Amino acid sequence: MSLPAFFSAQSPTPIVYLTTINGKRIFLKQDYLNHPTIQGNKLRKLKYTLLQAKRTGQTIVSFGGAYSNHIAALAAAGKAFNIDTIGIIRGEELADPNRWGTTLQQAHNNGMQLHFVSRSDYRKKHHSSAAQRGFDHVINPLIVPEGGTHPLALNGTAEIIDEVITQQPAEGFQRLFAACGTGGTLAGLIDGVAKHRLVCHVTGIAVLKSAQFLYDNVRNLSQYQHHVDWSIEYDYHAGGYAKTTSTLQRFIEQFHTTFNLPIEPIYTGKLCYGVFELAKQSHQQTENWLIYHSGGLQSIAHKNSHHSV
Ligand SMILES: *Cc1c(COP(=O)(O)O)cnc(C)c1O
Repeated sequence: MSLPAFFSAQSPTPIVYLTTINGKRIFLKQDYLNHPTIQGNKLRKLKYTLLQAKRTGQTIVSFGGAYSNHIAALAAAGKAFNIDTIGIIRGEELADPNRWGTTLQQAHNNGMQLHFVSRSDYRKKHHSSAAQRGFDHVINPLIVPEGGTHPLALNGTAEIIDEVITQQPAEGFQRLFAACGTGGTLAGLIDGVAKHRLVCHVTGIAVLKSAQFLYDNVRNLSQYQHHVDWSIEYDYHAGGYAKTTSTLQRFIEQFHTTFNLPIEPIYTGKLCYGVFELAKQSHQQTENWLIYHSGGLQSIAHKNSHHSV
């Protein structure tokens, strides 16, 4: 299937009702169902980059850590749609394949060329000659920043709202929540809400500690944020990126038992935990709240397969 045909054949991912807390009817958009390997927000963010690369024949170059869902998604997309990809990866010790986790192993298996740089070179990646060496040989590379966050990515995430408006209850959604790593997804959702003139407060749940920088990221990325009521919650990171607590672990297990839906500890577990806490703290009032489940399940698929061995 051609890439444009693939995207136009995508149907809206389902929205399911979960529960009611203090009058807040909580729904969840199962965007992890949009693709088995290029999941959720990562496929949304890559859409227009992939279409451009396919049109121009460019190689896509991007950046990430050893556990980056964005790198995993880009490599999977490169394989699925026959586009060359290069990953500039943080950590020179990872040049040794014995140290690769699932993300890098799969990225390699999917044909992504991996280039490893030290943490200091990674920090100044857009100016570091060590990082540039990874794609020196490429003519006219299509460079995508870390996390896949750039203006082209926002068009893709804004389209989530195009779907939501065809699926929402008659009273609409009064609040929408998404996990926030770089803020690109949140910025796109805000632009989508602005485009459709929805009266819906958009909230990001930060998954990193001390993530106040996210506010400026979103403000700079989103063209229409001044038309939308939006905020970021900073209290649900559970200790920092990829950190967890026993409370969060218990919540995730209980969520799975109660709703029989998958969430993972890095993004969507913190997101759902945060939303449930905010609903508990809220005044009794009837509203519809929507959680955007952004995917990321490939990280737990691996853990589960370990358990079953
Ligand atoms: C990458 C990722 C995010 C964060 O998205 P940003 O656009 O960087 O804020 C959220 N959820 C999942 C599952 C992700 O993989």
